[in-house]
Amino acid sequence: MSDLEITFLGTGAAIPSKKRNHIGIVLKYKGDLFLLDCGENIQRQFLYTKLSPMKIKAIFISHLHGDHILGLPGVIQSLSFMGRKKELKIFGPKGVEEIVEKSLTFGYCTIDFDVVVREIKENKPITIYEEEDFKFIAYPTEHGIPSYSYIFKEIKKPKLDIEKAKELGVKIGPDLKKIKEGKPVKSVYGDIVYPEQVLLPPKDGLCVAYSGDTKPLKDFALYLKDLKCSTLIHEATFDDSQKEMAEETFHSTIGGAYEVFKLSNAKNLILTHISARYDKDEYFKLYEDNVKKYDKEIIISEDLKSYKVRA
Ligand SMILES: [Zn+2]
Ligand SMILES: [Zn+2]
Repeated sequence: MSDLEITFLGTGAAIPSKKRNHIGIVLKYKGDLFLLDCGENIQRQFLYTKLSPMKIKAIFISHLHGDHILGLPGVIQSLSFMGRKKELKIFGPKGVEEIVEKSLTFGYCTIDFDVVVREIKENKPITIYEEEDFKFIAYPTEHGIPSYSYIFKEIKKPKLDIEKAKELGVKIGPDLKKIKEGKPVKSVYGDIVYPEQVLLPPKDGLCVAYSGDTKPLKDFALYLKDLKCSTLIHEATFDDSQKEMAEETFHSTIGGAYEVFKLSNAKNLILTHISARYDKDEYFKLYEDNVKKYDKEIIISEDLKSYKVRA
Protein backbone atom coordinates (compact mmCIF):
# COMPACT_ATOMS: atom_id res chain seq x y z
CA MET A 1 0.00 0.00 0.00
CA SER A 2 1.28 3.36 -0.93
CA ASP A 3 0.97 6.31 1.41
CA LEU A 4 0.63 8.70 -1.50
CA GLU A 5 -2.34 9.00 -3.81
CA ILE A 6 -2.99 11.40 -6.69
CA THR A 7 -6.54 12.44 -7.58
CA PHE A 8 -7.27 14.56 -10.62
CA LEU A 9 -10.16 16.92 -9.91
CA GLY A 10 -9.66 18.72 -13.20
CA THR A 11 -7.48 18.00 -16.21
CA GLY A 12 -8.42 20.66 -18.77
CA ALA A 13 -6.57 23.68 -20.15
CA ALA A 14 -7.66 27.31 -20.53
CA ILE A 15 -11.38 26.74 -21.14
CA PRO A 16 -13.19 23.98 -19.27
CA SER A 17 -14.95 21.43 -21.46
CA LYS A 18 -17.72 18.88 -20.98
CA LYS A 19 -15.19 16.20 -20.16
CA ARG A 20 -12.54 18.25 -18.39
CA ASN A 21 -12.80 20.65 -15.47
CA HIS A 22 -10.24 23.40 -14.97
CA ILE A 23 -7.05 22.00 -13.47
CA GLY A 24 -6.74 20.84 -9.85
CA ILE A 25 -4.79 17.87 -8.50
CA VAL A 26 -4.94 16.47 -4.98
CA LEU A 27 -2.01 14.69 -3.35
CA LYS A 28 -3.17 12.67 -0.37
CA TYR A 29 -0.40 11.70 2.01
CA LYS A 30 -1.20 9.86 5.25
CA GLY A 31 -4.65 11.48 5.42
CA ASP A 32 -3.60 15.07 4.71
CA LEU A 33 -4.46 16.74 1.42
CA PHE A 34 -2.34 19.06 -0.69
CA LEU A 35 -3.97 20.79 -3.64
CA LEU A 36 -1.94 21.58 -6.74
CA ASP A 37 -3.64 24.45 -8.59
CA CYS A 38 -7.22 25.44 -8.04
CA GLY A 39 -9.19 26.06 -11.22
CA GLU A 40 -12.82 27.07 -11.35
CA ASN A 41 -15.31 24.58 -9.85
CA ILE A 42 -12.67 22.59 -7.95
CA GLN A 43 -14.72 22.80 -4.73
CA ARG A 44 -17.60 21.00 -6.46
CA GLN A 45 -15.34 18.35 -7.97
CA PHE A 46 -14.44 17.31 -4.39
CA LEU A 47 -18.08 16.20 -3.96
CA TYR A 48 -17.59 13.45 -6.52
CA THR A 49 -14.69 11.96 -4.54
CA LYS A 50 -14.21 10.63 -1.03
CA LEU A 51 -11.87 13.53 -0.28
CA SER A 52 -12.88 16.42 1.97
CA PRO A 53 -11.61 19.93 1.22
CA MET A 54 -11.50 20.43 5.01
CA LYS A 55 -8.41 18.21 5.02
CA ILE A 56 -6.47 20.51 2.68
CA LYS A 57 -3.34 21.62 4.51
CA ALA A 58 -1.82 23.68 1.73
CA ILE A 59 -2.53 24.84 -1.81
CA PHE A 60 0.26 25.21 -4.35
CA ILE A 61 -0.47 27.52 -7.29
CA SER A 62 1.76 27.02 -10.34
CA HIS A 63 1.02 30.42 -11.93
CA LEU A 64 -1.64 33.06 -12.08
CA HIS A 65 -3.56 32.19 -15.25
CA GLY A 66 -7.31 31.95 -14.61
CA ASP A 67 -7.60 28.21 -15.24
CA HIS A 68 -5.28 27.62 -12.25
CA ILE A 69 -6.71 30.11 -9.72
CA LEU A 70 -10.37 30.89 -10.40
CA GLY A 71 -11.46 28.24 -7.89
CA LEU A 72 -9.68 29.89 -4.94
CA PRO A 73 -12.51 32.25 -3.77
CA GLY A 74 -15.01 29.37 -3.91
CA VAL A 75 -12.84 26.92 -1.98
CA ILE A 76 -11.89 29.49 0.67
CA GLN A 77 -15.44 30.78 1.20
CA SER A 78 -16.93 27.26 1.33
CA LEU A 79 -14.32 26.13 3.87
CA SER A 80 -15.45 28.98 6.09
CA PHE A 81 -19.12 27.90 5.70
CA MET A 82 -18.04 24.38 6.63
CA GLY A 83 -16.62 25.70 9.90
CA ARG A 84 -12.92 25.55 9.24
CA LYS A 85 -10.79 27.02 11.99
CA LYS A 86 -7.47 25.50 11.00
CA GLU A 87 -4.97 27.64 9.14
CA LEU A 88 -4.64 27.19 5.38
CA LYS A 89 -1.31 27.70 3.63
CA ILE A 90 -1.12 28.95 0.06
CA PHE A 91 2.05 29.06 -2.05
CA GLY A 92 2.50 30.61 -5.46
CA PRO A 93 4.56 32.97 -7.58
CA LYS A 94 4.73 36.75 -7.22
CA GLY A 95 1.21 38.18 -7.20
CA VAL A 96 -0.45 35.26 -5.41
CA GLU A 97 -0.74 37.32 -2.23
CA GLU A 98 -2.95 39.85 -4.01
CA ILE A 99 -5.08 37.07 -5.57
CA VAL A 100 -5.64 35.51 -2.13
CA GLU A 101 -6.43 38.91 -0.62
CA LYS A 102 -9.07 39.43 -3.32
CA SER A 103 -10.44 35.92 -2.73
CA LEU A 104 -10.85 36.71 0.98
CA THR A 105 -12.84 39.85 0.27
CA PHE A 106 -14.69 38.81 -2.88
CA GLY A 107 -18.31 39.91 -2.30
CA TYR A 108 -19.69 39.92 1.25
CA CYS A 109 -18.05 37.12 3.17
CA THR A 110 -16.51 36.33 6.51
CA ILE A 111 -13.54 34.04 6.63
CA ASP A 112 -13.01 32.58 10.11
CA PHE A 113 -9.64 30.96 9.64
CA ASP A 114 -6.15 32.19 8.86
CA VAL A 115 -4.82 32.02 5.36
CA VAL A 116 -1.05 32.21 5.30
CA VAL A 117 0.45 33.08 1.93
CA ARG A 118 4.02 32.64 0.81
CA GLU A 119 5.07 34.24 -2.45
CA ILE A 120 7.90 32.39 -4.14
CA LYS A 121 10.37 34.66 -5.88
CA GLU A 122 13.45 32.49 -6.16
CA ASN A 123 14.76 31.66 -9.57
CA LYS A 124 16.13 28.31 -8.47
CA PRO A 125 14.67 25.16 -6.91
CA ILE A 126 13.76 25.75 -3.30
CA THR A 127 12.12 23.80 -0.49
CA ILE A 128 9.02 25.77 0.45
CA TYR A 129 7.20 23.42 2.80
CA GLU A 130 8.59 20.76 5.05
CA GLU A 131 7.27 18.30 7.60
CA GLU A 132 9.09 15.50 9.38
CA ASP A 133 8.60 12.94 6.64
CA PHE A 134 8.18 14.94 3.42
CA LYS A 135 8.81 18.23 1.69
CA PHE A 136 7.58 20.27 -1.25
CA ILE A 137 10.07 21.84 -3.63
CA ALA A 138 9.17 24.66 -6.03
CA TYR A 139 11.04 24.58 -9.34
CA PRO A 140 10.92 27.65 -11.64
CA THR A 141 9.49 26.92 -15.09
CA GLU A 142 9.03 28.80 -18.38
CA HIS A 143 5.51 29.89 -19.20
CA GLY A 144 5.97 33.54 -20.18
CA ILE A 145 4.93 34.70 -16.69
CA PRO A 146 6.29 33.74 -13.25
CA SER A 147 5.57 30.02 -12.87
CA TYR A 148 6.66 27.00 -10.85
CA SER A 149 6.37 23.27 -10.88
CA TYR A 150 6.03 21.47 -7.55
CA ILE A 151 7.71 18.34 -6.35
CA PHE A 152 6.57 16.23 -3.39
CA LYS A 153 9.45 14.27 -1.90
CA GLU A 154 9.15 11.84 0.98
CA ILE A 155 12.03 11.92 3.46
CA LYS A 156 13.14 8.47 4.58
CA LYS A 157 15.28 7.99 7.63
CA PRO A 158 18.18 5.53 7.65
CA LYS A 159 17.23 2.12 9.03
CA LEU A 160 19.01 0.51 11.93
CA ASP A 161 20.85 -2.75 11.29
CA ILE A 162 19.79 -4.31 14.57
CA GLU A 163 21.94 -7.45 14.18
CA LYS A 164 25.02 -5.35 13.58
CA ALA A 165 24.17 -3.11 16.55
CA LYS A 166 23.88 -6.17 18.83
CA GLU A 167 27.13 -7.58 17.47
CA LEU A 168 28.97 -4.33 18.27
CA GLY A 169 27.47 -4.32 21.76
CA VAL A 170 25.05 -1.39 21.55
CA LYS A 171 22.84 -1.56 24.63
CA ILE A 172 19.17 -2.28 23.89
CA GLY A 173 17.04 0.66 25.05
CA PRO A 174 17.73 4.41 24.90
CA ASP A 175 21.10 3.90 23.18
CA LEU A 176 19.40 2.39 20.13
CA LYS A 177 17.24 5.50 19.80
CA LYS A 178 20.28 7.71 20.25
CA ILE A 179 22.32 6.02 17.55
CA LYS A 180 19.30 6.10 15.20
CA GLU A 181 19.27 9.87 15.67
CA GLY A 182 22.87 9.98 14.51
CA LYS A 183 24.68 10.17 17.85
CA PRO A 184 27.60 7.88 18.84
CA VAL A 185 27.09 5.64 21.88
CA LYS A 186 29.26 3.59 24.23
CA SER A 187 28.99 -0.18 23.76
CA VAL A 188 28.88 -2.84 26.48
CA TYR A 189 32.54 -3.48 25.70
CA GLY A 190 33.38 0.10 26.56
CA ASP A 191 34.21 1.37 23.07
CA ILE A 192 32.41 3.95 20.93
CA VAL A 193 29.99 2.85 18.23
CA TYR A 194 29.33 5.40 15.49
CA PRO A 195 26.01 5.68 13.61
CA GLU A 196 27.70 4.94 10.25
CA GLN A 197 28.57 1.49 11.59
CA VAL A 198 25.00 0.41 12.24
CA LEU A 199 22.75 2.51 9.99
CA LEU A 200 21.67 1.26 6.58
CA PRO A 201 21.22 3.87 3.83
CA PRO A 202 17.60 5.10 3.65
CA LYS A 203 15.28 3.83 0.93
CA ASP A 204 14.23 6.24 -1.81
CA GLY A 205 11.11 8.05 -0.62
CA LEU A 206 8.01 8.48 -2.73
CA CYS A 207 8.33 11.36 -5.15
CA VAL A 208 5.89 12.97 -7.53
CA ALA A 209 6.42 16.06 -9.66
CA TYR A 210 3.77 18.29 -11.25
CA SER A 211 5.03 20.48 -14.07
CA GLY A 212 2.34 23.17 -14.05
CA ASP A 213 2.14 24.99 -17.42
CA THR A 214 5.53 25.18 -19.09
CA LYS A 215 7.71 24.60 -22.08
CA PRO A 216 9.51 21.26 -21.78
CA LEU A 217 12.61 21.86 -19.64
CA LYS A 218 15.74 19.75 -19.80
CA ASP A 219 17.13 21.10 -16.52
CA PHE A 220 13.87 20.21 -14.75
CA ALA A 221 14.15 16.64 -16.09
CA LEU A 222 17.74 16.32 -14.82
CA TYR A 223 16.75 17.70 -11.44
CA LEU A 224 14.05 15.03 -11.15
CA LYS A 225 16.58 12.39 -12.13
CA ASP A 226 18.82 13.41 -9.22
CA LEU A 227 15.83 13.26 -6.88
CA LYS A 228 14.93 9.78 -8.18
CA CYS A 229 11.41 10.96 -8.79
CA SER A 230 9.16 8.04 -9.77
CA THR A 231 6.06 9.80 -11.08
CA LEU A 232 5.86 12.77 -13.38
CA ILE A 233 2.61 14.63 -14.00
CA HIS A 234 3.40 16.77 -17.02
CA GLU A 235 1.25 19.13 -18.98
CA ALA A 236 0.72 18.15 -22.62
CA THR A 237 -1.74 20.76 -23.77
CA PHE A 238 -1.25 19.86 -27.43
CA ASP A 239 -0.49 16.91 -29.66
CA ASP A 240 2.70 16.97 -31.72
CA SER A 241 1.06 18.52 -34.79
CA GLN A 242 0.56 21.72 -32.76
CA LYS A 243 4.24 22.18 -31.92
CA GLU A 244 4.37 25.78 -33.13
CA MET A 245 1.29 26.71 -31.15
CA ALA A 246 2.84 25.06 -28.06
CA GLU A 247 6.06 27.04 -28.48
CA GLU A 248 4.23 30.32 -28.99
CA THR A 249 2.14 29.83 -25.86
CA PHE A 250 4.93 28.36 -23.65
CA HIS A 251 3.21 25.00 -23.43
CA SER A 252 4.28 21.40 -24.06
CA THR A 253 3.27 18.89 -26.68
CA ILE A 254 3.01 15.16 -25.97
CA GLY A 255 6.49 14.71 -27.47
CA GLY A 256 7.91 17.51 -25.33
CA ALA A 257 6.49 16.01 -22.14
CA TYR A 258 7.81 12.59 -23.17
CA GLU A 259 11.32 13.97 -23.64
CA VAL A 260 11.29 15.39 -20.11
CA PHE A 261 9.99 12.05 -18.82
CA LYS A 262 12.70 10.01 -20.55
CA LEU A 263 15.46 12.30 -19.40
CA SER A 264 14.14 12.30 -15.83
CA ASN A 265 14.26 8.50 -15.57
CA ALA A 266 10.84 8.54 -13.86
CA LYS A 267 8.79 5.36 -14.02
CA ASN A 268 5.35 6.78 -14.72
CA LEU A 269 4.17 9.64 -16.89
CA ILE A 270 0.70 11.13 -16.51
CA LEU A 271 -0.27 13.76 -19.05
CA THR A 272 -2.64 16.53 -18.05
CA HIS A 273 -3.84 20.09 -18.87
CA ILE A 274 -5.34 18.92 -22.12
CA SER A 275 -6.83 21.42 -24.55
CA ALA A 276 -10.63 21.47 -24.90
CA ARG A 277 -10.25 20.79 -28.63
CA TYR A 278 -9.59 17.12 -27.81
CA ASP A 279 -13.07 16.69 -26.36
CA LYS A 280 -14.22 15.86 -29.88
CA ASP A 281 -13.83 12.12 -30.45
CA GLU A 282 -11.84 12.38 -33.67
CA TYR A 283 -9.36 14.81 -32.10
CA PHE A 284 -9.02 12.73 -28.96
CA LYS A 285 -8.25 9.70 -31.13
CA LEU A 286 -5.46 11.71 -32.71
CA TYR A 287 -4.15 12.64 -29.24
CA GLU A 288 -4.36 9.06 -28.02
CA ASP A 289 -2.59 7.67 -31.10
CA ASN A 290 0.12 10.28 -30.64
CA VAL A 291 0.64 9.15 -27.03
CA LYS A 292 0.76 5.45 -27.95
CA LYS A 293 3.44 6.19 -30.53
CA TYR A 294 5.79 6.95 -27.62
CA ASP A 295 4.73 4.46 -24.98
CA LYS A 296 1.51 2.54 -24.36
CA GLU A 297 2.00 2.86 -20.60
CA ILE A 298 1.64 6.65 -20.56
CA ILE A 299 -1.53 7.69 -18.75
CA ILE A 300 -3.76 10.45 -20.13
CA SER A 301 -5.33 11.92 -16.99
CA GLU A 302 -9.10 11.98 -16.61
CA ASP A 303 -11.21 13.99 -14.20
CA LEU A 304 -11.93 12.22 -10.89
CA LYS A 305 -9.46 9.38 -11.42
CA SER A 306 -6.96 8.43 -8.72
CA TYR A 307 -3.55 6.79 -8.84
CA LYS A 308 -1.30 5.33 -6.14
CA VAL A 309 2.31 6.47 -6.25
CA ARG A 310 5.03 3.87 -5.87
CA ALA A 311 8.70 4.46 -5.21
ZN1 LIG B 1 -3.31 26.51 -17.82
ZN1 LIG C 1 -1.01 28.99 -18.10
